[in-house]
Amino acid sequence: MQKIKDKLLKGTLIGLLSLLGYQIGLTGVNEYLRRNSTKFENKKQLEEVLKSEIEKLEIKNKLIKVQYQKEDQADSRKTGTNEYVISIGPSFNNDNVLKHELYHIADGHCDYTYKLNEIYKKHPLLAPAVGFYNTSKYLFYNEPQAIIYTATGWEI
Ligand SMILES: [Zn+2]
Repeated sequence: MQKIKDKLLKGTLIGLLSLLGYQIGLTGVNEYLRRNSTKFENKKQLEEVLKSEIEKLEIKNKLIKVQYQKEDQADSRKTGTNEYVISIGPSFNNDNVLKHELYHIADGHCDYTYKLNEIYKKHPLLAPAVGFYNTSKYLFYNEPQAIIYTATGWEI
């Protein structure tokens, strides 16, 4: 019995350390991409990359607005039917961050979260379960996809 407990404990520990390593690696690559990118000096530079990425990702049918924010982070979200907003903080004002957020929009990540938010509103009791699922999907599927796209240009 002690052996089974030891193996379970060891397996759990290895699993947790693997997850931690995975997250640290992913965060490291994302941070490297953010720091080693072309900073936008003005809105025109941002709009040129925006236009080019929208064509590359074939999302001309989506209305995408980019806004600056004081919080030093970046995110993208759906705000209505075919409408999206990318918010960019001061040190996130560069081409890699913009490409990353556009990939989230192009691959439907924002649409998915938007749908889940609708479920939250209708069924508040499901919020913890749906939230856990959404966070897991974001961390282990959507975010790696966006990071790989930013690093390599591969749409996977
Ligand atoms: Zn992301």
